[in-house]
Amino acid sequence: MSRVFFIGLDAAEPSLITQWMSDGHLPNMLKLKKKGSYFPIGSKNDHLVGLPWPTFYTGKNPGNHGAYHYLQWDPQKMKSARIDRPWLPLNPFWRYFDSNGPRAIVLDIPLTPTLEAFHGIEINGWATHEVLVPQGAQPRQTLDWIKKTIGPAPGFAERYGNFGSRDRLVIRDRLVSMTRQASRLAKNLMVHESWDLFLVVFSATHRGGHQLWRAEPCAERGPDDSLLLDVYKACDLAVGELTSQMSPNTTILLGSLHGMGINHSRTEILPDMIEKIITDKAGRKARQKPGRISLIKNFIPSKIRHEIKRRMPQTLQDTLTVFWRMGGVDWQHSPVISLLGDYDGYLRINLKGRESAGIIEPGCQFDEWIQKTIDGLHSFVDRDSGQPVVLDVLQHKDLNMNGACMDFFPDLIVEWQKTPACNHREIVSPIYGAVPWPTPGLNPEGRTGNHRSQGFLIACGAQFSKNEVLPPVGIVDLAPTIIEILGCPKPKDMEGSIIFQGRPVKEKL
Ligand SMILES: [Zn+2]
Repeated sequence: MSRVFFIGLDAAEPSLITQWMSDGHLPNMLKLKKKGSYFPIGSKNDHLVGLPWPTFYTGKNPGNHGAYHYLQWDPQKMKSARIDRPWLPLNPFWRYFDSNGPRAIVLDIPLTPTLEAFHGIEINGWATHEVLVPQGAQPRQTLDWIKKTIGPAPGFAERYGNFGSRDRLVIRDRLVSMTRQASRLAKNLMVHESWDLFLVVFSATHRGGHQLWRAEPCAERGPDDSLLLDVYKACDLAVGELTSQMSPNTTILLGSLHGMGINHSRTEILPDMIEKIITDKAGRKARQKPGRISLIKNFIPSKIRHEIKRRMPQTLQDTLTVFWRMGGVDWQHSPVISLLGDYDGYLRINLKGRESAGIIEPGCQFDEWIQKTIDGLHSFVDRDSGQPVVLDVLQHKDLNMNGACMDFFPDLIVEWQKTPACNHREIVSPIYGAVPWPTPGLNPEGRTGNHRSQGFLIACGAQFSKNEVLPPVGIVDLAPTIIEILGCPKPKDMEGSIIFQGRPVKEKL
């Protein structure tokens, strides 16, 4: 048995890590890479960007935990709501060690469910990009100790809408400072508390990836690589501070579960595309009061809408998010429901017997609407280039997934063309007409970067060979691997494999 120290660099892009390690910008990560094994982390489920952290902390495949977005569709209430236990089986593995088992300290794992008492310390939402529940700690008094020792939580809400280069500098500065503070807190906890398992996630790479991604071809902005590099360098410094004096019986795992690239998402206009497809020949629309909702939405720019929302408590923020996106929908005229999503588009058929206000019969009618929606989406092209905007529309059978929670997932997942989304002015279909792009030349939400499915893992310890690149592993393999290193039996319902057992070395550096 040895101790395990896991450092997550949330949504850090492996190609940037590799490039910047070889350019000498990330010396501490490079040192670890030379001391250990490097694994690409691949997800079979590229299309559901909220999967990685729930898959990591449950050690279950997505079909058996059902989480893919922080706000998911509740077919009984006919609305989207924040996921948590017991709605979904989101059980972080460290909360189930008994008092004779390993003691865990957990700092800022994204998208964890409501805190519970357990054998260790867990702090949530202190410097995190994505949370399910408001900031907290277990035991509760830990937050007072942190406030006295380190200071107030440095985490901050994402600003939406397009902003200028001065704003980007401010974001860079705040992310660098947030990383320094999180590193100080982690160091303090490591020194003052006993632990067998230490998990810490730095989120600046995630927020920075979305907002400081390099300039897009269409945008007249200077290259932003240097700002993002500063964020990655701050993380490298934290990695150095936290790993430099680690005892030899500690296995160090460093990595990201998914990556980042140019933003391809057209999800902002998906509801308008669906509205065109489902509007029947008599002109009956799914939105009961289209005028009122559109008027409010068009009258208040996205940046201001998000600014108002940012100042509200979490439950009101969720209500407003759902209202802007789904408000005023008449379910009796909505055969297809456009769900909330950040990257790929998520759709659900309004199915009788499953949705409480369902109108589509299972069987032939369901299949017809699936096909009509797929064909309809493929008919939209960019008005200027004539290029299709949809690359593929996937159904459950295309997802390589199964399990008890498949019903929580969308029926259709819209994969966008792998081209920058901001190039559009208008999307047109010869059948359904035109949908305007809300911010020509820019991404409506201000996110220049969005997710890629591949992450990476650097593993240093007695179980791993030195200075080698090994075949890819899955996110689901990480929890059983950590549990094995800690010398604990793998829980019966945990899936995945232990990554250092029976794997041949593929190539040497
Ligand atoms: Zn993200």
